[in-house]
Amino acid sequence: MFTLPKLPYEFDALEPNISKKTIEFHYGKHHQAYVNKLNELIKGTDFENKTLEEIIRTSEGGIFNNAAQVWNHTFYWEGFSKTPVQKPGGKLAEAIDKKWGSFDKFKEEFNNKSIGVFGSGWTWLVKDNKGELDIVGTSNAQNPLTTDKKALLTSDVWEHAYYLDYQNLRAKYMENFWNIVDWKKIEERYNS
Ligand code: MN
Repeated sequence: MFTLPKLPYEFDALEPNISKKTIEFHYGKHHQAYVNKLNELIKGTDFENKTLEEIIRTSEGGIFNNAAQVWNHTFYWEGFSKTPVQKPGGKLAEAIDKKWGSFDKFKEEFNNKSIGVFGSGWTWLVKDNKGELDIVGTSNAQNPLTTDKKALLTSDVWEHAYYLDYQNLRAKYMENFWNIVDWKKIEERYNS
């Protein structure tokens, strides 16, 4: 049985960028619902004894969708902090400059990709096995675990991620997203 991982901060920690009310619904209802549905779907199947990552890599349909959404949301929440390091450093900063020329240019590209995802999905900063970076957009529950790229950062661009705070203004949500991304965490992911 999978359980909803505890958030690494209080529900109001990301205010005003992501409100307590959004966390109550997005984490407390949506994320929890993916966990519940996954448990219901894998009951009595071979997936019961697999890790979340193994399920994502070997399933399809409803089991894949719910498993991936559980993983995606946990990964999304863990990228934020109440007291974030607001800029990348070290080798990650070098890789960003190499690919996009500057941190600002990278953020602009990431925002454009996020705004451009049609319907529901996710935007990801990923690295390949040489440490080179890219930005990819995915639909619905899809994520980089099923590719040869490692995920470093994600933005949830399903409407439920921003509608309570920003209504239909995905660009405004993305503008404020950068206020809470913790680059210490993203750098740890890059270096591991
Ligand atoms: Mn979501």
